[in-house]
Amino acid sequence: MCFILSMLVVHRYQTVKAQITEEVELSFSGFKTANRHLVTLLSQRLSLLTRSLGLLNYVNNESELTLVSLATEWQRISKDVNLEGDFYYIHRDGRVDLVLSHAADGYELNWGASVNPAVIDYLKSVNWRGEGEISSQVVEDASTGENLYIIFIPVFDKWSKLVGWMVNEYNQTAINNSVHFVGQQKLVERALVISSDGLIIEGDNSQATGEKLEHLVGKLSYSALGNYFSRGQFAKQHSPVSLSDGLLFSNVFKHDLEAPSFAFLFISYKDLAKDSKYWLVFIGGVGLIAIVACFVTAYLTEAIRREKAIVEELNALRDAAFEGEFSQVITDKQGIVLQVNRYLAQRSGLSVEEMIGHNIASFGELEPPFSTMIEHAQQHGSWLGEVSITDASGRVTIQQMTVTAVYWQDKIRSFVCSGIDISAQKSLEKKLQRLANTDPLTGAANRRHFEHLVHLEQSRSDRNGAPFSLLMFDVDHFKKLNDQHGHDVGDLCLIRLVEKVNQLKREIDILARWGGEEFILLLPETSVEQAVNLAERLRLGFEQDTVSPHFTCSFGLTESRKDVSFSRLYKQADEALYLAKERGRNRVELYVHATKSS
Ligand code: GH3
Ligand code: MG
Ligand code: MG
Repeated sequence: MCFILSMLVVHRYQTVKAQITEEVELSFSGFKTANRHLVTLLSQRLSLLTRSLGLLNYVNNESELTLVSLATEWQRISKDVNLEGDFYYIHRDGRVDLVLSHAADGYELNWGASVNPAVIDYLKSVNWRGEGEISSQVVEDASTGENLYIIFIPVFDKWSKLVGWMVNEYNQTAINNSVHFVGQQKLVERALVISSDGLIIEGDNSQATGEKLEHLVGKLSYSALGNYFSRGQFAKQHSPVSLSDGLLFSNVFKHDLEAPSFAFLFISYKDLAKDSKYWLVFIGGVGLIAIVACFVTAYLTEAIRREKAIVEELNALRDAAFEGEFSQVITDKQGIVLQVNRYLAQRSGLSVEEMIGHNIASFGELEPPFSTMIEHAQQHGSWLGEVSITDASGRVTIQQMTVTAVYWQDKIRSFVCSGIDISAQKSLEKKLQRLANTDPLTGAANRRHFEHLVHLEQSRSDRNGAPFSLLMFDVDHFKKLNDQHGHDVGDLCLIRLVEKVNQLKREIDILARWGGEEFILLLPETSVEQAVNLAERLRLGFEQDTVSPHFTCSFGLTESRKDVSFSRLYKQADEALYLAKERGRNRVELYVHATKSS
């Protein structure tokens, strides 16, 4: 009965070899003449082969073809490196699938051959799940007393695989150094059906399990296996025998047609279906997170887009306000330019980029200096005033400028400086002022302006006690001159008079046309004694002038006194002038206080 069952299983095993050989492991034995160099070389080739094995298994379900390809490759390698020995494809449970026996005239390929039990024992003791690198073992063959040198190499692909081979000489370090594997080994759950005579059939216990196991065990029905597991019978019949990391159970299964079959069942600890559940939950979770992330991202993107649009609009507004026919610059607390408008850059003869990062003071001389404005703005929030700017080319412009401190969290962060060029207005203003203050015929100061300047001088004199003098003078017989030469010539004489006085007077003295051909000079910080000299110089200047028509002038001089009003002083000077006229003209007379008071 057992024999029949065994034969049945063996037969079945042969027919399904194509499916189960995905888990092939490879072994060599009996290399007699390998030397160190050859083994190193071999290990390199082996590395290549193990990779190609993985590739072959992955793409090719024709496992016999795979095995034959491998066998062919091994023949080539052994020939290349001049090795002798037998090659075995060994499953991790020790089942031999294929042998490449060394013969005198080459190699002979056998399916399902037997292998030395010592090798199988060794391979069974290997920690399969810790596989990853080539390892080795010297095993004594009890039957012959010979030492077997085993090197086994796991091959990684969707099935864990082993390639083992045996030689009697090798260099382990060289092998370890020269063979490396990439990728991650992966165990796939399996169920093993072991016939009572020790033959092992192995199958995938994950996908299409029922179909596969039915294939594997032939007439053993999968539903019988399923019931066995679902009823939990295996728990009671748990055997301590361990084949790698699995549990071994034994039971007799009934199939539909035949008598009950006896089989061992091996299942690994790992339940891929359960794992798959976790994976599904994981993938579902990741998917959910991805969807939520998509919504959040979409929301954030929209929010950011809106924010950006607002910022862009604000920037556009700010830029529009920043640019214009006026100077605008933003500096940090030290006066380093952070931003500058095109107008100012253009006026400085630079580009905006060239100005940014440099101190504003380096682009021109400012009066008052920029530091003064900043200081004021730091204390009072802003500075407002006129600034004279001398640029690099020496051009001077006047700007109406504001410097405003910009605060950020109660601290000054920057200054905004705005300026408008008022040079044209300033020069017009000056011109108008000059027109308002001067006599149009002679260019001398007019009466109103003169009085203003005298008041200033009076207050200065009151402060420092230094006296000033007033000198009035009048052209002698001017009426006659007009009559003789005409009014136009008279006008020219008045112009000449002013020119002459301007040449002879001191810089600080101020000349005004008091009316008609009558003039007045303010002599600041000048006592009457000093003023007499000047008056004499002027008198002589006219007297000795050779230009025609000739004319002379009479002079009346007075000195300021504290608390004496301008009208009073004017009267005094006028009195002195009158005296000069009276005493014969072309002379200088002083207003003498003592004389008057006596
Ligand atoms: P005196 O020596 O006493 O000063 O004699 P005078 O002729 O200069 O004095 P008077 O005041 O009698 O005459 C002043 C004359 O000056 C009268 C006027 O025609 C003339 N005059 C006043 N203003 C102007 C002016 O702007 N241009 C010209 N050409 N003559 C003027
Ligand atoms: Mg006169
Ligand atoms: Mg006169």
